[in-house]
Parts: sequence; C-alpha cells; structure tokens
Amino acid sequence: MKPHTRFTVTFEDADPGDVGLLGGKGAGLARMSQRGLRVPAGYVISTEACRHYLRTGAMPDGLADEVFAQLDVMAKRSGKTFGGGPVPLLLSVRSGAPVSMPGMMDTILNLGLDRDSAVALAEATGDTRFMADLVVRFHAMYGEIVLGAFADVLDTEDLLATVSPSDDPGAAYDRVWTACARALEEDGDQSVPQDPREQLLGAVEAVFRSWNTRRARTYREFHGIPHDMGTAVVVQAMVFGNLSDDSGSGVVFTRDPATGEPGIFGEYLARSQGEDVVAGIRTPHPVRKALPPAVLAELERACAELEREHGDVLDIEYTVERSTLYFLQVRSAKRTPEAAVRIAADFLAEGTVAPAKALAPVGLDQVRQVQRPGFDAAELERARAEGRVLTTGIGACPGQVSGVVVLDADRAKERGDAGEPVILARQVTSPADLHGMIAARGVLTATGGSTSHAAVVARALGKACVVGAADIRVDTGSRTLVIGERVLAEGEEISLDGGSGEVFTGGFATTAPAAASGALSSLLSAARRAAGCAVFSRVTLPGDVEPALAAGAGGLVTAVDDVLATSGHLDALVRELLERRDVGSVRLDFVADAVAREFTPLLAAAGDVEVGVRAIDFVADDSREHLQQTALTTQYPQLAVPLGLPELVEAQIEGLGRAIRDSGSRGRVHLALRHVSDPAEAAALRALRPDGPATLSVGAYLTSPRAVYNCAGIAAESDVLWLEVRFLQAAMFGIAPRELLTAQPLDGYMRRGMLGTDPRTGVDPSLDPLLAQVAAQAADHPACRLGMRLSGAVSEQVVARLYELGVRRFAVDADEVGPLSLALGKAAAKT
Ligand code: ADP
Ligand code: MG
Repeated sequence: MKPHTRFTVTFEDADPGDVGLLGGKGAGLARMSQRGLRVPAGYVISTEACRHYLRTGAMPDGLADEVFAQLDVMAKRSGKTFGGGPVPLLLSVRSGAPVSMPGMMDTILNLGLDRDSAVALAEATGDTRFMADLVVRFHAMYGEIVLGAFADVLDTEDLLATVSPSDDPGAAYDRVWTACARALEEDGDQSVPQDPREQLLGAVEAVFRSWNTRRARTYREFHGIPHDMGTAVVVQAMVFGNLSDDSGSGVVFTRDPATGEPGIFGEYLARSQGEDVVAGIRTPHPVRKALPPAVLAELERACAELEREHGDVLDIEYTVERSTLYFLQVRSAKRTPEAAVRIAADFLAEGTVAPAKALAPVGLDQVRQVQRPGFDAAELERARAEGRVLTTGIGACPGQVSGVVVLDADRAKERGDAGEPVILARQVTSPADLHGMIAARGVLTATGGSTSHAAVVARALGKACVVGAADIRVDTGSRTLVIGERVLAEGEEISLDGGSGEVFTGGFATTAPAAASGALSSLLSAARRAAGCAVFSRVTLPGDVEPALAAGAGGLVTAVDDVLATSGHLDALVRELLERRDVGSVRLDFVADAVAREFTPLLAAAGDVEVGVRAIDFVADDSREHLQQTALTTQYPQLAVPLGLPELVEAQIEGLGRAIRDSGSRGRVHLALRHVSDPAEAAALRALRPDGPATLSVGAYLTSPRAVYNCAGIAAESDVLWLEVRFLQAAMFGIAPRELLTAQPLDGYMRRGMLGTDPRTGVDPSLDPLLAQVAAQAADHPACRLGMRLSGAVSEQVVARLYELGVRRFAVDADEVGPLSLALGKAAAKT
C-alpha cells in the first residue's frame, strides 16, 4: 500500500523528467532504478516542501507524517528495521537541487543509529569496529551539519583506536557514543538525538537550510541560478563501502572529462565511504586496476547504457558492498573545453546522439579556448613559483604568447615581418599602431582598460593582450621597458598571458593549438555542413588567408584601407590626396596602382574563394586616425558621403580588376561601399562598374535604419549586400559607432541596470524588426547575395535569431569563424 503523498515520492513512482520537483539527484536515482540498475531504495522530498520551509521557516504540515509513512514502506520492502534489529535500516539524507551545484549543499550519512540498532548491526556483521566507525562518522556529520559544530571537533582516529572488531557491541557503543556526545557538548552545548526519527527530521531540515549557506548563495550568484528554487531531499537506504575488503566506493566518468577520450575513467577506494574519496584523506586508485573484473564489467556496461540513454557524458557515484555494485548518483559530467569538443565530435561521428543534443553542451567560449595555443602548464606553475611574474595587468584578450619586447609599431612590423616573434609594448596604443599590432603576437599597454583601443583592436585581431599594467613604463628615449625596479632592454624576451593579465620574463614552451586537433575541425565542419552557410573570415595579409581557410572559412572579407595601412601605403595615399588640387577632375591613378599592387598577392592567396573588399571610406570609419579624416573631409567635403567622389571608387574598382588579372584569381570579388542608404545610390554605384573581369562586382554595406527601410530597392540594384550589425545598432542607440566599442560610461549604466542590452556585446531587440525586414527582402531578391557582418565575439542567441530569419551568409573576425560555425550548427540542429 502506498502512503498518501503530497511532498514525497519513491524512486519507483517518480517521473524522472520532473527535475524541478525531484532535483537532479532524485531524478537521476529514479531513472536508474526504473531502468533496472541496482539503486538502494529510497524516496524524494520535493523542492516544494523546501520552498515552503524557506518561506515560512517551518516544515509544512503533514510532511513529518509522510516522511515516516514512506520510511515504513521502505522498511517493509527491505525486511530491515529503522531504529532496531535484527537487520537495522540506516539512511543517507541527501541534498539535490534542480540545477547541479556540486558539493555546495549538505548530505548526512549513516543516520538511524540508536543503541538497539547499533548492537544489532554489530551482531549482523560480526564487526563491532565497523559499527563504531559508523557511530563516529554519523556524529561528525550530524554535529557539523545539523548542530553547527566545527568540522574537526571529533578526533575520529582517537575515538576508534580503542575499538576492535570482536569487542562487546553494547559496551563499545556506550563508550564511543558518550565520547562523541561529550566532545559535541563541549563545543556547542548540543548533542545528537538518541531517537532515530528525531535524527531524520533534524537532518531533513538541515538539508533544507543548506540551500542558503554562504557558499551555495555565492555559487548561485556566480552562475546566475535563481535563489528561490530550493533543494529536494533524497532519503535513501545506506550501503556500506567501508564494511569489508571487498567493499569500497568511487566515482566514474563515462569518458575522460579532461581529454574526452572514450572509455570509462574513474577511481575506486576499497574500504571507504564516498565522503573519504571527496575529502582527499586517502588517495583512490584507477578503476581499471582497483575493481574486481566482474564489478568492472558491470560498471562499464551500465556506463555505456546510461550514456546512450542520456545522450551525454556522465559522472556516476557508486559503492560496492561485499562485491555487489550499487549506483548512488548520475549527472552530466563537468568537462574541460578540450573534452567538450572531443566528446561532441565523437558523438556526431558515432551517430548515437542527436546533433542538437551532442552540440548543446559545447559553448562558443570553449571553442575559443581550444583554438588558442597555450603555455606548457607545468612550466607556467614553475614560472609563478620562481617569481618570473613581472607584473599583472588587465587580461584583455586571452592567449599565451612569448616574444621579444618591442617599443614602437614600426619596429614591431620590421622585426615581425622578418619572422621574429614580437610583443609590442606601448604606454598606450592609437590607431596609428595597427600595423605594429598586426605584426606582433601580443600587445602590452601601461594604461587603458578592457574597452580601450588596444583591447578592442587586439580582440578584433585575436592577439593576446594585457592592458592597464600600471607598473610598467615604456621609455622610448632609452629604449627600455621599466617595471618597478627592473629595466628590460628592447629586444629582451617576455611572455604574456592575456587571460590572467600576467607578464613574465623569458619565454615559454607552448603546447600545439588544439585547433590543429582533428576533433575541433571535425566538429566545426560537421556544424557547418548541417547549417549550410557561407562563413567569411576577415583577413588583411596574404599570410592570413591560409589559416582562415584552414579554420573553415568559405570566403574572405577585407578592407582597402586596412590592406594599405598594413603595407604602410595609406599615409602616402592620404598625403597625396591632400596635396592634389585637381581631385574630381582627373582619375586617381595612384590609388588604382596602390590597390592593384597590394591586392595581387592577397587575391593570389585566396585562389578561387569569394573575397569581399570594403572600399576606402573617410566618413565614419572607426579604425583610422581622426585627424586624417578631418583633414580630408574638410578639404574635400564630398568625401563625407559614400559616392561624393566617384573617382575614388572607380580607382579602387580599376585597381581590383588589375589585381584579379595579375593574380590569376578565379573567385568572385566584390568591392562594397559603406553607408549606402538609397536605391538611387546603389544604381549609381552599379553604373560605375567598368568593363573589368566578369568575376568583379560592386555592392554595399547597409549601416543605417534608412538603408533597412530602403532595402528592397537597394537589393534590386545590387549584387552583394552586407548588413553591418554594429553600425545599425549604433544608429538605433544614437551612439557613434566608435563609441560603441569603447564607451566607458556605459559600464555604469549596465551596472545600474538602466540598459536592457549592452550595445557593445549584445544585439538589442529593437533591431529585430529591422533584421527580419532585411532578411525578407533578401529572400525576395535572390540575385542579390545578402550577408551579415558581425563584429567582435559572436553571440549564440544572435546567430540563432539570424539563422531562423533565413540568413545564410556571415562575415566575422578571423578568430570567430570557429565559434560562429558552432553557433550555426546548433541553430540548424534545433530546427
Ligand atoms: P553531493 O551532492 O555533495 O555529491 P551526495 O549526496 O552525493 O553529496 O553524498 C556524498 C557521498 O555520500 C556520495 O558520493 C556517496 O558516496 C555517499 N552516499 C550517499 N548516499 C549513500 C548511500 N545511500 N549509501 C552509501 N553511500 C552514500
Ligand atoms: Mg554526490
């Protein structure tokens, strides 16, 4: 007969899908026991009871009755007795929230001992010392968790030293219990109740309370878990890993959580209770060596079945009692980024897990982490211990790099181009340092925060970067880098950790980027295949092309002014423009020449992939010197509108046409002009197309709400369109685009909760209707290739939204090709 239940349910009767009420632990135990795995009997007290307790400070009416009614059912079914013999029933009372919070809340083991049951247990097992061990363990846990005693009030070793297996049970029990009680009373004037039922209610209440311990609250805050969910409580029959030599406990993962390698991976400790392993008092052994073959085989079988059923890598707690295996917990395993990637790739290859499910546990940041080469971990530890840390600034762009320190951009370019690994150290960077930053492996600045120019550009370039290292001074007079007392000459080797912000003397051995590993590339290409999208990567140098294609890009985007700036020709071009008095009346041959010269090697490297080239624009560029822009637009006001100086556009078209011919490029190439917002502009732009190569076309970047409004007309007049999402967002917020990258006043705004979306990182819902409109118009004009240009780190939500709208072309910064591919794969798997 089932007891009438409102707050409790047995493992057999629970619906394992109801994680909200059962908590993760209760749901997992229900699932395992229902699929026939050996799980010690038990029941779950729902999170609803906990919420009631947290609200009112009292247990809900009727809960105690239910707790005991369920206990009677357990006792009857198992033939054991709670609080008595001949075979006593002992319990564990375990916390288990709907969201995994490993180790954050409390669990009490070995509950239900009074004199009668202790004596019966010693007689049933023939081992008085075992019984005494349980009494001591129970006092220690109950004392700490329910009574609030200090953790090490009981000297367990001392208490047990006097007991041997063959002692008289009653006398031993009295001795140990009294000693425990005295120690607890001295500490806190409280003692453990003798009555097992009272123990049980005390333990349940303590587990409810443990929802609100400081560590649990901190953990929830860090992970954004709401504070009002409450925990469920699992009440379960104990099994004993500390009973005999053929007993023990351990934890096993269905795959290696560090590397993702298939096959079970875990540990076992003979003669132990699970807490011993976690506390690290004794060192467990690898399962394959330590478990008896029959138990190991059963464990492996169960792991494989559970993994298949859950479609995820699992973390399983188990105990062996006299060679019989029991399952005590199952949950999704926490894993390193490397393991996450490997596991998802293997799941897709094995075909046993649905793509949406296989991809779900991998985060975009994990792909970013796996892509980066890193310092050898042991050497890093040693370096810290040996005091090689020179200073610590703000880690602005992750990545671990070593190189010779160089103090200005020109030298960085010179030495970098010569093949030397270089770290550019500046007091502060400006847009004039771009070529040096591109040539460097890492960037270090004395001033600036994580939204400073150096930081923003470094992230766009994917360069390891430490900013705001306040102790350093870059002395370009004496060519030294001064760090407190230490003086490094330009050319000495240093290392940066752009994640932690540390700066080290000397170099490090790096481990190969895991991007080279098969797992990441197979995962990302599977994701791209599923999504069927064209992913364009931003490149600047011919040498960028090969890595971009290797990373999975199907196309490339670049900009005329970036390419000319990198080769050092932009300044000359601007100077020449400023000196000319006859601009507008003659063809700007020197522009065409520069474009032809600099794009020939880039297009040669690109081969037959599509290349999008953004035309020079002096209007609202965010990456060029303000001064140049101001001087030019003052002298040539017509430069303040996209097509004000058609000759400049024509010259670039002509230069690109020559570069296509000279490079033997076979791919499509287009020149796209920013800030076009009118169908008439698009038509005028199209009319500029000369009789160049057939692969060359012109297009536009849409950057304003007006462009979106006119999108249908513009699409009708264009071969290629890119919507530059950051510019559109800036327009919607009424903030200048360059401010969107660096605007520090927004930090305060975000902290005070006065903006629903951080326009620097997210995409605001106010753009939704505009994005939908652009996507719909593009669908009506299939001859026009429409894509989205996303700046900085892409967000999974934004990509999912765009994919759903039907967008299939994307352009991103080089390092974001991988994360974008994953996000697209996830979006495609969901639909
Ligand atoms: P946590 O949520 O911190 O993992 P658990 O409730 O899983 O805490 O308990 C910790 C350990 O106690 C488990 O790993 C297991 O070894 C042991 N344990 C819990 N319940 C039982 C039980 N019924 N029998 C034997 N050992 C148990
Ligand atoms: Mg556990």
